[in-house]
Amino acid sequence: MIQLYIPLGFLGVLYREIKQSLTDLDKMFTLLEKEREIADAPGALPLQLDGPPTVRFEDVRFAYEPARQILHGISFEIPAGKTVAVVGPSGSGKSTLARLLYRFYDIGSGAIRINGQDIRQVTQGSVRQAIGIVPQDTVLFNDSIEYNILYGRPDAGHDAAVAAARAAHIHDFIERLPQGYATVVGERGLKLSGGEKQRVAIARTLLKNPPILIFDEATSALDSANERAIQAELRSAARNKTALVIAHRLSTVVDAHEIIVLEHGHIVERGTHAQLLAQGGVYAGMWALQQSGADTAAGSPPASAAG
Ligand code: ATP
Repeated sequence: MIQLYIPLGFLGVLYREIKQSLTDLDKMFTLLEKEREIADAPGALPLQLDGPPTVRFEDVRFAYEPARQILHGISFEIPAGKTVAVVGPSGSGKSTLARLLYRFYDIGSGAIRINGQDIRQVTQGSVRQAIGIVPQDTVLFNDSIEYNILYGRPDAGHDAAVAAARAAHIHDFIERLPQGYATVVGERGLKLSGGEKQRVAIARTLLKNPPILIFDEATSALDSANERAIQAELRSAARNKTALVIAHRLSTVVDAHEIIVLEHGHIVERGTHAQLLAQGGVYAGMWALQQSGADTAAGSPPASAAG
């Protein structure tokens, strides 16, 4: 009986390993496929940066498929070191803006410039090096939580990982895990909640310390305590960086330099929180709705909200 168990158990493990490897391979090929779509221009040079840059979207048009235009001429500027937030209904094209800035896709027409440099004319690697992304749903590697934080700067070392984790308010959580920083997380390890994963991504980004930050807020509802913590972490991560924040909860955006309201790939309103409230349009309606709904975490806007 025992003799039978061992090979069967082994086969089970082997089966899971192979299945997972195939999934990983599948993901890798999908990524490689994507990489091939975006090629460096002949003789492209690295992006030249000196501190947080100005980011400009100039009349950007984009379609994933020719028959369906997603963005219809989007123009805005994120001044150096400022935060611009994008809000709007699901499917309006918010995350697409983030993907285009990271150059997952090339735009149909218009330009995206970082300090005046068209991102199609510089090397893709240097653009990605300059940007830290905290995506909606962070995929963690099946490795230690320390490896996941250090990913991108593996030589930074344990102390740097701890400092980043502290700044992202996840250090205490990690210390309580069975093996602390050595605990294996990800699909095959300890599963973390959406909020915990997003904090790992924030720690990773703080460690990378890029001059540009893209924060794509998770759509999944967080409890108010978690939400406030993530917003505090986001503010600390965005300090002295040029930041594009894709927001689902308006409480995230009250301090933004400018708020862009997107609908069906068009900018329908823009301004500071106070200006948009005074305007009494789409944004004011969204704000009223979130204030009256279950999402009480948004709270009252601070008096200095327009700042
Ligand atoms: P949400 O708030 O739900 O995250 P969003 O405003 O960020 O939505 P996007 O993810 O930018 O919306 O998507 C905009 C539109 O583009 C949607 O209609 C979506 O179906 C479409 N879309 C997104 N990704 C792709 C893709 N890879 N191929 C084709 N269409 C896509």
